[in-house]
Amino acid sequence: MLNLRQLFLLNNAQTSSTPRLLEIERAEGIYLYSPDGRKYMDLVSGFAVSNVGHRHPHVVKAIKDQVDRYMHLTVYGEFVQAPQVKFAVKLVSVLPHNLNSVYFVNSGAEATEGALKLAKRYTGRKKIISCHNAYHGSTHGALSVMGNDYFKEAFQPLLPDISFINFNDFSDLEAINSETACIIIETIQGEAGIRVPERKYMQALRKRCAETGTLLILDEIQTGFGRTGKLFAFEHFDISPDILLSAKGIGGGMPIGAFISSREIMNSLTENPILGHITTFGGHPVCCAAGLATLEVLLEENLMRDVDQKESLFRELLVHPLIKEVRGRGLMLALQLDSFELVEEVCKAAAEQGLIIDWFLHCDTALRLAPPLIISEAEIRTACTTILTTLTKTTET
Ligand code: PLP
Repeated sequence: MLNLRQLFLLNNAQTSSTPRLLEIERAEGIYLYSPDGRKYMDLVSGFAVSNVGHRHPHVVKAIKDQVDRYMHLTVYGEFVQAPQVKFAVKLVSVLPHNLNSVYFVNSGAEATEGALKLAKRYTGRKKIISCHNAYHGSTHGALSVMGNDYFKEAFQPLLPDISFINFNDFSDLEAINSETACIIIETIQGEAGIRVPERKYMQALRKRCAETGTLLILDEIQTGFGRTGKLFAFEHFDISPDILLSAKGIGGGMPIGAFISSREIMNSLTENPILGHITTFGGHPVCCAAGLATLEVLLEENLMRDVDQKESLFRELLVHPLIKEVRGRGLMLALQLDSFELVEEVCKAAAEQGLIIDWFLHCDTALRLAPPLIISEAEIRTACTTILTTLTKTTET
C-alpha cells in the first residue's frame, strides 16, 4: 500500500525535481501541523498569501456563510452577486480615485493576462515593456513578460513586441515612448530577490508614462494587502498606477486575483469585440466573500500598523557573518547569502527545526522571509534564533 507521499509523486504532476514533500493536515495562524504531530512556523505565508494568517476566523466564517447561500452561479459579469459587488466597493473605497473599476479573476497570472489585453485594447498600441528579472506569472502572456530567458526559451514563440529594461534604472525609462501600450512592473521586485526601487525612480516612471500616454501597470500581486506595511506598496512612492494587479493575499487563502483600473479604461473591454475578457469562475462568490473578510481583518485589526516595527526587529536580530545583506520592505525580506547550496542547506535544516523558509525564482542565493503579518515579536525572536543557529551549524558541518 502506497503512502500519501508516494501517491503524490505518482499521480500529481511534478514540476520540481526536489519537492519539499512536507505533509500538512492543519493550519492555523502562523503555524502548520503535520500528521506526525510536528508544528512548523510558516515564514513564507504560502508565498505571500496568508497575510492575515492561516484560517483567520473572520475569513472562515465568511466562506462558510457564503457556501450556505450559493457558490458558482454563472460566468463573470452577468448576474449581480452580492459578494463580488461588496468586495469591489470596499476595494474601490481604499484605492486612489482613478482605480474605481475592478475585474476579478482567479489568479495572479490571469490578472496579468487581463491587464496586458486591456492596455493593448485601450491604447490601440502593440508594444509592451517589462523588466529584467520580473515575474508576473506562468501562462503564455505572463511568461512573455518574465525577465528571465531560462524559464522562457523552451516555450517560444511567446508574445511579440515585448522589450525589457533594467529595474530602477533611470536612463532606461527613455525606452518608453508613444508606441508603448504599457509597462508592467512590480512595485517591489519579488522573485528577483526583493529589490526595492528608489522613490524618485518610481516617480520618474510615472511621469514618463503620463508624458507618452503609456499605461503604467503595477504588479502588486506579491506586495499587496499589507505585506510592505501599506495596503499596496505604491503608497510608499506617492504614485498611482493606471492598472493595478492584485492576487495572492487578497483572498485570505482563497484563489482570487484582480486587475483594477478606471471605468474609462476598463470600458474598452465592452465593445469591438464585446466580452473583451471572459472568465467562468473569476470573482467566485466564495472567494469574494473571503476577500472582503480579509480586507476587513487587515483594516479593523490594524495589521499594517506594526509591520515597520516588525521589519526593524528582523533587521536588528538577523546579523550573522553569512548574511551579506537584508533587503526588502515590511515583511517582505530577502537574506542574501553566498550560494544556492547554503540556501538549500539552511532551508532544509530550518524545516527540521520547525521553521519554513524558502528562496526566490530568480535569486536562489537569498532566503525568503514573508511571514503572516500577525506574527508576534516573540515569534520573530524565535524564528531569528532558529535561522541564526541553523546558519552557524552549517558552517560547523
Ligand atoms: N506576479 C507576481 C509579482 C508574483 O509574485 C506572482 C506569483 O508568485 C504572480 C504574478 C503570479 O501569480 P499566480 O501564481 O497566482 O498566477
